[in-house]
Amino acid sequence: MLEVLRRIVQEVNSARTLNAALATMVRRIRKAMRTDVCSFYLYDTEQDCLVLMETIGLRTQAVGHVTMALGEGLVGLVAERGEPLNLEDAPAHSHFRYFEETGEERFSSFLGVPIIHQRRMLGVLVVQQQDKRRFDEGDEAFLVTMAAQLAGVLAHALATGTLSRPMQTDGQAVFTGVAASPGMAIGEALVIAPPADLDNVPDLIPTDIDYEIQRLKEAIYRVRDEIRATGERLASRISAQELALFEVYQQMLSEAALGQEVEKRIREGQWAPGALADVVRRHVQYLERVDDSYLRERAADVRDLGRRVLAHLQEEAPQTPDTFPDRAILVGDELSVATLGEVPRGKLAGLVAIRGSSTSHVAILARAMGIPTVLGMVDLPLPRLNGAPVILDGHRGRLFVRPSNELENHYQMLIDEEQALAEVLEHEQDLPCRTPDGHDMPLMVNTGLAVDAVASLKTRISGVGLYRTEVPFMITDRFPGEQEQTRLYREQLESFAPLPVIMRTLDIGGDKDLPYFPIEEANPFLGWRGIRVTRDHPEVLMVQLRAMLRASQGLDNLQVMLPMVTNVDEVDDALKLMDRARVELAEDGVNVDRPKVGIMLEVPATLYQLEALAQRSDFFSVGSNDLTQYLLAVDRNNPRVAELYDACHPAVLAALARLADEASALNVPTSVCGELAGDPAGALLLMGMGFETLSMNAPSLPRVRAAIRRVPMSAAKSLVEETLCLPTPKAVREHLETRLGEWQLTHLLPPKD
Ligand code: PEP
Ligand code: MG
Repeated sequence: MLEVLRRIVQEVNSARTLNAALATMVRRIRKAMRTDVCSFYLYDTEQDCLVLMETIGLRTQAVGHVTMALGEGLVGLVAERGEPLNLEDAPAHSHFRYFEETGEERFSSFLGVPIIHQRRMLGVLVVQQQDKRRFDEGDEAFLVTMAAQLAGVLAHALATGTLSRPMQTDGQAVFTGVAASPGMAIGEALVIAPPADLDNVPDLIPTDIDYEIQRLKEAIYRVRDEIRATGERLASRISAQELALFEVYQQMLSEAALGQEVEKRIREGQWAPGALADVVRRHVQYLERVDDSYLRERAADVRDLGRRVLAHLQEEAPQTPDTFPDRAILVGDELSVATLGEVPRGKLAGLVAIRGSSTSHVAILARAMGIPTVLGMVDLPLPRLNGAPVILDGHRGRLFVRPSNELENHYQMLIDEEQALAEVLEHEQDLPCRTPDGHDMPLMVNTGLAVDAVASLKTRISGVGLYRTEVPFMITDRFPGEQEQTRLYREQLESFAPLPVIMRTLDIGGDKDLPYFPIEEANPFLGWRGIRVTRDHPEVLMVQLRAMLRASQGLDNLQVMLPMVTNVDEVDDALKLMDRARVELAEDGVNVDRPKVGIMLEVPATLYQLEALAQRSDFFSVGSNDLTQYLLAVDRNNPRVAELYDACHPAVLAALARLADEASALNVPTSVCGELAGDPAGALLLMGMGFETLSMNAPSLPRVRAAIRRVPMSAAKSLVEETLCLPTPKAVREHLETRLGEWQLTHLLPPKD
């Protein structure tokens, strides 16, 4: 049974079209369970109903037509309860409803199980039997296991567009995800396909069929050439039998085989990459299904060849700035920091991705750049979105595809209102960040990308609280050299001088991989990250420290900060390297004072070693993003647990409050540079706790300043006291909202429905 299960899941997984996947699934289940009927009902979130999507045994005319509300009929009951229902005499059940189109009256026994993914109901699987048959425990267990296995596959298939919920006739749809960067945008979806990923090639109608065929032929020709060369290179090292495989590959790619089929598909109206993906998937699916293990292994070969050809096709047609839509909403499976740089800044209106969460680094950069972003949108049918008009709502985490005129007008009005609020707040941005009872709360900015936009805020801030040096490293194709880094850092330091600039040493690892220094780990956030990497690679850290020191010559506004510190000796080692860097520079005739060196408090262990750390550092800066993830054991990048990630969790707030008290007793200036500092309510709490400085993305400054200028320090302290007594993140958020409402500051919070 396990083997049957594995096969069915695999087949559904590799299907490219909705019909093929579902048809295979119901046929296989019916055969395995020896029943008369197997049907799959998909839950359509838009219309809040279940739709018969595929069946074997009921009348096929019913597919797409039979729909039922939750709780309606037996299928609706299964969906509503979220539990299996096993009946020997279904028509006798009080919920039984007769749908004429299905011809259902002939069936007595019914077994239905819900398909649930991450607490979300995706649909219902049903088997039925003409005779009165009580499906036994084994049957029920099989179908439940099948549904559980299929849930993930279906969710992924829905997300990648392999399957799609029945869209309304005019194609309107709305998808939800994690709100990752506020703001709203109306624009056009631009799907960024990961390179050489056959599963994520968008469907496009070719404008020039002959051109598509021509470039396909060239791509195939190049792959054949590569394979020939590889075969020749390996000829002396592999057996004749293995070498024969290269001949098989050549044949697979020949004009008469794959090439011809893809060409036919192009003529039917698909561009070359889409046609290739279709044909490869069809072959792979077929080969994976056959019983011959030799042929099954060939499925991997076909996929690999397909990927190689696709890589060449994608190389051929890079997107040029002229071809980007004017208001591009970039949509992808996973967006990297590097992709942000691919769209000209003036044309980038929003970002949407299937993966990622609100504190993943692409989200942080999007916030810094003021680009509305929604991540973790697991339902997104990627290949069907390219070119579609869309509205992105970064406050509520929504993407409307092909919206109605009314909806577009409504959003245009909201966008105008937001713009008006920004203009109102702008009037007070040059005023001091001082509470009504005279407490000064210095605000700093977090930087990483484009200096120019942020440097213009120089008169409004107290400096740069966090310069993420890894960001420029992420958009190059090798480690930048010492001179290059010096230029980069000099630009930062000069732009803000005489204000302090806190440069954080390289914080790679976690979700910040360098393309030229990949780190593959099962638990990257618990792995080789930040100072752990640079401690193991002193040569990398030394270059960075020397570049920073050299860049600061004559400016004296450099401060250095160490990320991901867990142990005191990590700090000692870094300080030794700092001294060595100064000595080496002095030998070159460059004399610089030792800059202030601070430590990021983001690993919970540091909270219990403050005294020892205080002896070694000039300041602390709290990385509330990581501190939250590590205190709550919630991966900040995982949409599945995004709901659990909340910096307003009572435990996080309690840790922060205690930390502020202890750091102040130790006389160490302490700031917060995580995202909590840029949230107006969070900023008030942090001020009330006694943190000395807040550092945030530039777009957060106006709202935070407006909040601080209206709430006395005494009220912020009371707010902390009240909040620390609350038991849940939800209670904390509600309380903050109530208080901000009383202070007439609701407009500073993200809009709600
Ligand atoms: C943090 O962890 O809060 C922080 C500021 O650093 P990063 O988000 O870059 O990990
Ligand atoms: Mg961090």
